[in-house]
Amino acid sequence: MKIAFYSTKPYDRIWFEPLGKEYGFDIHFIEAACNQETVFMARGYDAICIFVNDHVNADMIEELYEMKVKAILLRSAGFNHVDVKASENKITILRVPSYSPEAVAEFAMTMLLTINRMTHKAYNRTREFNMSLNGLMGTNLYEKTAGVVGTGKIGQAMIKILNGFQMRVLCYDPYPAKGLEAEYVSLNELLKQSDVISLHCPLTSETKYMINKDSIRNMKEGVYLVNTSRGGLINTDDLIDAMMLKKFGGVGLDVYEEEEGLFYEDRSGEIITDDNLARLMTIPNVLLTSHMGFFTEEAMEAIARTTLENAYALENGLPLKNQVGKEMAL
Ligand code: NAD
Repeated sequence: MKIAFYSTKPYDRIWFEPLGKEYGFDIHFIEAACNQETVFMARGYDAICIFVNDHVNADMIEELYEMKVKAILLRSAGFNHVDVKASENKITILRVPSYSPEAVAEFAMTMLLTINRMTHKAYNRTREFNMSLNGLMGTNLYEKTAGVVGTGKIGQAMIKILNGFQMRVLCYDPYPAKGLEAEYVSLNELLKQSDVISLHCPLTSETKYMINKDSIRNMKEGVYLVNTSRGGLINTDDLIDAMMLKKFGGVGLDVYEEEEGLFYEDRSGEIITDDNLARLMTIPNVLLTSHMGFFTEEAMEAIARTTLENAYALENGLPLKNQVGKEMAL
């Protein structure tokens, strides 16, 4: 199988190069993102392999189909960046449903601890021999209430971590899981009672902007909010307005609704024209990271392995257990 591998970063090659050789695949690593301008590069390939900020719309699906590209191999669990409905009967979409939920959950807790205890500021201060503690006071998490929105694989891993901190854990999910050390409540109740809220549900038409001015109004004053899921869950305008009114103790954002084209790139020498992003950077209790919750050795290896297993299954007519079907479309 010949695979056009878009949005290649040096760290992608660590596992994809040797594993690709093991499978006998011909992988062509392309640095460019996959978009309307670069999709032509897929000509002559059997599959394209893409990441979360490579958007494939219906027009691009048509183009890929015309080029006889048979599959879109997603190096992610989420598939909101591909027009799944348009791909029906044309191109097979295969994803990596789970690689390391613990990686993302551990990162969500890292963000929470950072925005609460301000270790990022302490690090900078002590490097300059500023040993003052002014402005660095946090709060205990012990016996506080945490709200977990979405109790799938990552949400459940997060609940276990929160249990370890001896927090009371509330959760919300339209499809509750059994056996969790957490209490299911309505979303409103969760927002009202939680000192800390962590988002772990997918981005769908239903969850888009679930954090908006109304839901923020329901939250406690001084609440900590962490989003490692998808940027579109939060209405950024409403978030910024509320932050200006000092609603939040802290906000950790690993994802941002306009991250495409910005995240995963070094833009330090450029002028950022995204006003909301620029504004977020000026708010002291915001921690913004570049969609890196997944980024551990274990997760990267698992992503490479499953992506190539998916390709192998397709090539050899084996059952496609990780296929994204139209019934899953948003
Ligand atoms: P999952 O499919 O195992 O779990 C998602 C859960 O959300 C399910 O239990 C589902 O019932 C629930 N859900 C659906 N609609 C909901 C709603 N309206 N309100 C509350 N819950 C709802 O997925 P997962 O592996 O736990 O991943 C969760 C999300 O994390 C993914 O959709 C993805 O967006 C994000 N993610 C981020 C990173 C990162 O690097 N930051 C990495 C992987 C995944």
